[in-house]
Formats: sequence, structure tokens, C-alpha cells
Amino acid sequence: MKDDDRQLDLCVKCGTCRTMCPVFRVTGEEGGVARGKISILQALYRGNTRFSEETLDFLNQCVTCGSCEFVCPRDVPFLQIIENARAKALRDGQISLSKKIALKLISGKRGISAAAGLGRLLPGDSGLQYKLPLIKRHIPKPGKSLDSLLPPFSPPLGRYRFDVLYFPGCAMRYLYTETAKNLVTLLNRLGVGVFLDFGQKCCGFPHLTAGDTKTFEQLMSHNNQTFSAFKDKIKYIVTACATCGSALKNNYELPVEILDINELLVDVLDAHFQLKSDKKRPVTRFHHPCHLMKHQHVKDQPEDILKEISDFGEMEGADFCCGFGGSFSVFEGELSRGIGDKKAEMIKQSFAETGIKEEVLVTSCPGCILQLSDSLKRNGIHVPVKHIVDVIIEYMEESHD
Ligand code: SF4
Ligand code: SF4
Repeated sequence: MKDDDRQLDLCVKCGTCRTMCPVFRVTGEEGGVARGKISILQALYRGNTRFSEETLDFLNQCVTCGSCEFVCPRDVPFLQIIENARAKALRDGQISLSKKIALKLISGKRGISAAAGLGRLLPGDSGLQYKLPLIKRHIPKPGKSLDSLLPPFSPPLGRYRFDVLYFPGCAMRYLYTETAKNLVTLLNRLGVGVFLDFGQKCCGFPHLTAGDTKTFEQLMSHNNQTFSAFKDKIKYIVTACATCGSALKNNYELPVEILDINELLVDVLDAHFQLKSDKKRPVTRFHHPCHLMKHQHVKDQPEDILKEISDFGEMEGADFCCGFGGSFSVFEGELSRGIGDKKAEMIKQSFAETGIKEEVLVTSCPGCILQLSDSLKRNGIHVPVKHIVDVIIEYMEESHD
């Protein structure tokens, strides 16, 4: 508890975090923002009391987007603080995750049948069990898993400039398999071999943010073992899921460096220059996933790519959280939708300002794609949302016509 106290005491209550907090933007309540949560935790830790129901609600009302940490002048490690608090609630038996999830699902109209159908398709330890916002949402139907579309693969020795191991993560493996296949195609075209290994499990981020550190550590240990088998064959581990990238980069002790696909393309391969062509360029705007920009500090690379291959435009609130956030969209569905609505409004304004019809909203995280697509559809805004990998592949294919 002493470490927690020290972390909490770094906060000088300046309120800068209020400027970026998506929960505060929707609720307007001090308990929604980092400063308010810190004040509540300070009082509770000093009194050494259990959390009240109201406190638990405030703790649950956090997307763990990291926006507060990103702007905090005192470097308060808020994400660590909230993880510790949620882990304490679990230890004290104050939150039963399965019960909470079950109650939320049952309260939806077709919740149980939808969950049961989905539950049959997903492995028991998949983070998607925590992540999917099942109630009243437009979500893609899980199809064939990546494993059945692309078999495990080892690139022939010496065929490529270097080789990487791909960590698709649950969403790419079960929902956005086309994007996962496109990533392999893209890297091969740029001279990079891609090892595919489906012994990997969920990165554990949803479990970590829900306070379930025990399951997180089991998943981390399992994944690290699978990575170690490749350590002498690969230069990097690569992912195109911002959430997985954040989990692996900030929590794992990896045998080789992990890179987000945007880092690999721009910082290592200079691919944005290679992609240049005179062909028709789509009009794009980019949503910065919190887990990419605020957790991994990757901001310029995707914009550099889009500036080369499209008519890239700025967007109001490009770095404002979409409201998805690990287990948040399940536990706090209404709030998650409220944040999604705010984001949709910002997107609508930017697109309406230019009057351009054929625009694409691009991002680089499957969770954001799911949430943004849902929010835009719910608000009657007809803008396609695509992963940057898919946009690059489409562009390459049009350039070769
Ligand atoms: S910005 Fe940082 S120091 Fe300021 S109130 Fe928020 S958490 Fe505290
Ligand atoms: S992590 Fe995001 S949602 Fe949570 S308090 Fe900070 S800014 Fe608000």
C-alpha cells in the first residue's frame, strides 16, 4: 500500500487530466476523471477500508485509455493505480468478473443466446470473452479463425531480408482475419518473412485492466514460452493490434523487440517512400488508437504512411478515445456508447467541413474499428472504417492495375 500511496501523492490536483478524459466528457463527474479517482483512493487506502459500491462504480468507469497519463504534468502512473485498485477489489472478493459479465449479458434482450453462440466460437481464455460489447451493438460475426485460413508457417531460410513472428491477437485471429492475411501479404511484398504460430494465446490486456493479474501472468508466461522458440530465427515480433502491442511492450519481458506494424513499416523499412505512386489516392483521416499513441507513443508513423498513399486530412478529436477499452465496453456499455457518440459527432463535423464524399476513416486497432463502426452506424454516419494495413494493400493493388 505504501507504493500506492507514493504514486497517489504525485498528483497535485491540477485538473489537467480533465481536458482529455472521455469519461469526464460524458458524465461531467469528478469521480470519472483521474484526479477524482485518486482523491477517493487516497481516502480509502488511508482508512484501509473496503471499497463501497459507489467507489467500485467510479473505478469501473475508466476506459484505461491513458489520456490522463499522456497530459499529466506530474507523470502520475494512473494506469498502474487503476490496475492495482481493481486487483484489490478482486482480491477482496468485491467483484466477480463472471457474475458481472453474466448479469450484463442477461440484461440485454438476446444477450444470453448471443453470448452462448459467441462463447461456442471463442476459446475460453480468449480476451474477447471480456472485450466484445455484445449488447445493442453492430459487431462483426466471428467467421473462420485465422488458423484455419493460414496454416502455421516458417519462411524458407534466407529467402527474405529478415523474418518476424506475427502476433495477431484475438480480434485479428477470430474477427478481422482478412486484415491479418493482408498483413502477411504486405510484409512479404516488402521482403519480410512472417512466421505464423498459433500456439499463442490472448495477450492478457483485458484481464490486466479488469484487475485479473493472475490470469494475465499465466497468459504472459505461456506466450513468452512460445516466443522463445523463435528467438534465434526472427528480428522482431510484429502486431497490428494496438492493444496487444501495448500489453506486450509495456508488461512482457520479451526475447526480441516487439514493433507495431506502423513502426516496422516506417522506422525499419522506410516503406512509406516505397509506396509512393501517381495513382488515384483515397481521402483519409486517421483515428489515433489510445493504445498506440498514448500507451506506445506511436503517432507520426501512420500519418507518414497516409500522407504518401492518400489525400490525408486532419480530423477534429483524432486523438480522442473511441470508448472501447478492454473490458470497459462490456461492464460499462452505456458509458462506452456515450463516448462513442461523442466521437461520432467529432468525425461527422470533420467530414462535413470538407464536403468530400469518398472518405475513409483509417485506424490501426481492431478494437477501435469495432467501436468506431458501431458508433458511426448508430449515429447514421456512413463513413467506412478501415485498418491501415487494408488501406495500404488496396492502394498497392490499385497501383498495379
Ligand atoms: S493531471 Fe496529473 S497531477 Fe493533475 S490532477 Fe490529473 S492526475 Fe493529478
Ligand atoms: S485512463 Fe482515460 S478514462 Fe480513465 S481516468 Fe484516465 S483519461 Fe479518464
